[in-house]
Amino acid sequence: MKNYIKHHPWNIVEEGFDPNLNRVSESIFSIGNGKFGQRANFEENYSGDSLQGNYVAGVYYPDRTRVGWWKNGYPEYFAKVLNAPNWLGLDIKINGISLDLAKCEVLDFNRILDMQTGILYRNFTAKNESGITLTVATERFCSLATTNLGVLRYSFSLDKKAEIEITSYVDGTIANADSNYDEKFWNDIRTKSANNKSLLICETKKTAFQVGVLASTDITLNEQDLEWKDTTDSKNYAGIYTTFLADKDENINIEKRAIIISSLDYDKAAIEDALNKIAIDLDKTGYDELKNKQIAAWSSKWNESDIIIEGDVSAQQAIRFNIFQLNCTYSGEDERLNIGPKGFTGEKYGGSTYWDTEAYCLPFYQATADSHVARNLLIYRYKHLKKAIENAQKLGFKDGAALYPMVTMNGEECHNEWEITFEEIHRNGAIAYAIYDYINYTGEQVYLAKYGLEVLIGIARFWAQRVNWSEDKHQFVMLGVTGPNEFENNVNNNWYTNKMAAWCMDYCIESLTWVMENQEDDYARIIAKTQLNTEELSKWKNISENMYYPFSEEHGVFLQQDGFLDKELIPVSELPASERPIVEHWSWDRILRSCYIKQADTLQGIYFFEDQFTEDEIRRHYDFYEPLTVHESSLSPCVHNILAAKVGDQKRAYEFYLRTARLDLDDYNNDTRDGLHITSMAGTWLSIVKGFAGMRVKNGEVSFNPFLPDKWESFSFKIRFRGELMAITVNKSGLNIASQAIAPSR
Ligand code: BGC
Repeated sequence: MKNYIKHHPWNIVEEGFDPNLNRVSESIFSIGNGKFGQRANFEENYSGDSLQGNYVAGVYYPDRTRVGWWKNGYPEYFAKVLNAPNWLGLDIKINGISLDLAKCEVLDFNRILDMQTGILYRNFTAKNESGITLTVATERFCSLATTNLGVLRYSFSLDKKAEIEITSYVDGTIANADSNYDEKFWNDIRTKSANNKSLLICETKKTAFQVGVLASTDITLNEQDLEWKDTTDSKNYAGIYTTFLADKDENINIEKRAIIISSLDYDKAAIEDALNKIAIDLDKTGYDELKNKQIAAWSSKWNESDIIIEGDVSAQQAIRFNIFQLNCTYSGEDERLNIGPKGFTGEKYGGSTYWDTEAYCLPFYQATADSHVARNLLIYRYKHLKKAIENAQKLGFKDGAALYPMVTMNGEECHNEWEITFEEIHRNGAIAYAIYDYINYTGEQVYLAKYGLEVLIGIARFWAQRVNWSEDKHQFVMLGVTGPNEFENNVNNNWYTNKMAAWCMDYCIESLTWVMENQEDDYARIIAKTQLNTEELSKWKNISENMYYPFSEEHGVFLQQDGFLDKELIPVSELPASERPIVEHWSWDRILRSCYIKQADTLQGIYFFEDQFTEDEIRRHYDFYEPLTVHESSLSPCVHNILAAKVGDQKRAYEFYLRTARLDLDDYNNDTRDGLHITSMAGTWLSIVKGFAGMRVKNGEVSFNPFLPDKWESFSFKIRFRGELMAITVNKSGLNIASQAIAPSR
């Protein structure tokens, strides 16, 4: 755990430069706008430890799979979001020496991410190898108002007269650090620099996505325009160069804007023209105007999604950081896009879609944005249904059974560890649950007829084929699965998975009935398309009514899986601190045999289906499982926070909140350097809204059952709910709700 980020309600602040923390800071100070984003890499050269990262949403590469032992059914490739051209590049030479903080004496340094406006600032004073001191101030943003635009201002002065050389460039020669075979993924299509502009168009190998970047850079010396003197283009690299003399204290100001578009939105043949057209308009717009638009765009985002906490600045900063990053990652305007566990902040997890989206992220977008934003997350899966059916076929399922991938970019499975790819099938349940959650929240039942029902049918068919009848138990069982707790593999009758499967089949039957009764035409279309017959429905009903659930009479709890009680049940509190996290200290074999739970598993099901359990039952399950849980997935604390709040364990609820909220800011798991835990950030939001405020939606009504953490004076947030914008405040005297009508959703 680290503690170097200064507490502030709106800003993330780092003071002083510690090269050992640079990768962590590069992650924490990441910015984005839903279309593209980047780590907080320096604009100028840096030879120290750094993970370069610029990402364009939806642009991925199928990297050939690398595994020890190949197993039939493994996917051929792992789709990864690509490190895209770096548009920030500035090479600054002072008397022939390139500015590189790794080689300077850094006298003063700070980085500030102003979350209110989405602007990243960096200020430093550094003495270079020849003794010249530079004072530098930078600011940059990924425009939320114009989502194909990145903007940078870089100003500096020297303490002595010197010859300055500057190259402003766009670099497409980048590689992914996680490339399986050290390949580069980009082909060069076109580079052309002239005057103040550098154009670079490159294309991904195999997937043939084109990304076009047009950067314009203006430079002034004491407010007098300077000319660019030359170009420095080479393969996959476009740059412009100038040189001049600057006197002591003269101000050099560089303003760079980059337009970034891709073949996801433009015909390849039209990319260059489109860039030029956008640039013509942009050339008329001053830096301050672009900045003001950015400020206004973030202000309206915050207007609906902010959570205000009074009395605890650390908690305040943390929740805003989580909300900020969620809004940087996904804006919901494009149904082809989704939310990678690391968003635009790192390469790990390939930028692909996991069950995290449905199980954790959906409620945030549902409540803080127009409903099309969350709906697009569901439509993303609807569009992948055909591939999910093919995926199931590859594994031996038939007749329209659909198994959604564990990890995907385009609907195809990318994951290749057998215990997860083939066994962590509970993901199918989360996809069905998200449809239910969306409709329960928005009331948009017609979503079933348009899209949802087809997905539910594919999923119900899968479960019906995945279970088998046990002659011994006289019930249906599900063998060889991995539940959400990945510290157990190949178990029989994981309660959560069995529960999800039965629920999916019931919900599908219920949804079919609704569509039949309310949307006849769609019903006929769906029956014809899916070739569904009534025998299937009776089969599903029979399975759901006769599903086997492992249960302990002694403890009064459902068991995580068959045989769970054979384990030695030693609470986590008795594990030596030196052995935590166990994933780093124990052999895999020891972990598998132990009772330790990585993240909510049985409790995930209790959380989803809370209404089916009495408060006593919920408490019993929480008391039984939480002490055995090591919370070694970032997705764990939030579910436990909500259940702790539900059973009145306010102290623990607050501890879980802190753990999820400051996970990256304080680098709890020592892995922030790889990127941020974006999907668990939605869990932080859930912790406040469902945990502390106790928000629930039932039968078309929203209710609250709040408590105020001791340290806080109050907290407040807004939610969109069925045509109203509701402002909820919880303070020492209770709950207050103010509400106003809003425009109907799209
Ligand atoms: C968790 C999974 C999750 C994945 C991506 C893993 O550590 O166990 O539940 O889907 O991370 O966030």
